[in-house]
Amino acid sequence: MGSQTDLTYALEQDQADVLAPLRERFVIADEQLLYLDGNSLGRLPRETERLAQTLLSEQWGKRLIRGWNEGWMALPESVGASIAQVLGADPDEVLVADSTSINLLKLTIAALRLQASRGRSEIVTDDLNFPSDISVLQSALELCGGTSHLSIIPSADGIYGPVAELTGVLNEETALLTLSHTTFKSGYVYPLEELTSAAHECGALVLWDLSHSVGAMPLALRDAGVDLAVGCTYKYLNGGPGAPAFLYVRRDLQERLENPLAAWMGHAHPFDFSLTYQPAPGLRRFLTGTPPVLSLALIEPGVRLVLEAGTERLRSKAEGLSGYLLDLWEHELAPMGFTLNSPRESAVRGSHISLGHPEGLRIDQALIHDMHVLPDFRAPDNLRLGLAPLYTRYQDIYHAVKRLKQVVSEGLYHKYSAQVSVT
Ligand SMILES: *Cc1c(COP(=O)(O)O)cnc(C)c1O
Repeated sequence: MGSQTDLTYALEQDQADVLAPLRERFVIADEQLLYLDGNSLGRLPRETERLAQTLLSEQWGKRLIRGWNEGWMALPESVGASIAQVLGADPDEVLVADSTSINLLKLTIAALRLQASRGRSEIVTDDLNFPSDISVLQSALELCGGTSHLSIIPSADGIYGPVAELTGVLNEETALLTLSHTTFKSGYVYPLEELTSAAHECGALVLWDLSHSVGAMPLALRDAGVDLAVGCTYKYLNGGPGAPAFLYVRRDLQERLENPLAAWMGHAHPFDFSLTYQPAPGLRRFLTGTPPVLSLALIEPGVRLVLEAGTERLRSKAEGLSGYLLDLWEHELAPMGFTLNSPRESAVRGSHISLGHPEGLRIDQALIHDMHVLPDFRAPDNLRLGLAPLYTRYQDIYHAVKRLKQVVSEGLYHKYSAQVSVT
């Protein structure tokens, strides 16, 4: 006989969770630590630990340079093909290389150059986008000679994406519409298909940053006709700190776009050492330098866990977890001054929830240092709680909220300065 917010309810939900057994496939070094930052750095899969050992001792250690012909050279495509399944793309449409920032830069410049030939020069984005992505877009514009411009469409409330305004500004000069599919702060999720179609109707290309979506929800790039996409592998894909990122280019665009950072790995015949650059056919032209074999190979086990779970099931668990957290927020946290800085409706919300509090930064410090909870914080006042459906449990949410309440009701955050830099 409990309410939908008590511990019994959480334990029952964990019991009934079909994905619960997958938690054991991760290294959980500290059972007491409540980890709510899997949207920033996913946990370490056990299989990745084993693979790391094999890569070092069996491959690098024993095979030495022969490793390049025994699978290393193909890793950008082979890991890309696995990620393609998570994206609803074809295997030859996804490549793993560089970081998300670099891939965004490469694809943005490639798109701008293609569109310049059609007299289009404007990039459209929003102010919910990851600020670093905006810097990359500005760099791309400067590198293209500064003749194009960036329109940053503001969100009215900082939570919901300005969908109508975005479609309203698309015009015959728009070269590219680029957005974070799931926004990094509020967790708002854009209607990918609708905006892709709107961009196409006006002749613009679309580039989605999928960093906070991939591995947390079904994606259907093929069906939506998406042109370009990039994203991280170290968040819900659990690829490891700083693991290289993916880029997606729709097949029919691949040979019409040029890699602005051309180098030997994207060359059709890298070992000819020809003085004339000839781009490789297909997506491989978007490689620049030598693939980071160790970190690249270690992405695969995390992706396989996502595929084993199934993105529909991951999404449905993420909705369950966030629904539970919202109930707790409404009944227990809202009365203590926490505001909801994420959309209320699960249909337009990703797998993390932001709660605002004027003392957010100090509360965050107390959670980390005194309460054994790892959330994260996004300025100015957002506690961001990541719910990674592969391993986050309902009971973790219950306990995290309990500790959060204790921090506030007992004033445990008072000893922290509001000025400290965020770790
Ligand atoms: C995490 C994240 C990035 C990170 O890019 P890096 O190049 O790996 O530092 C970029 N964009 C978005 C939207 C992100 O959430």
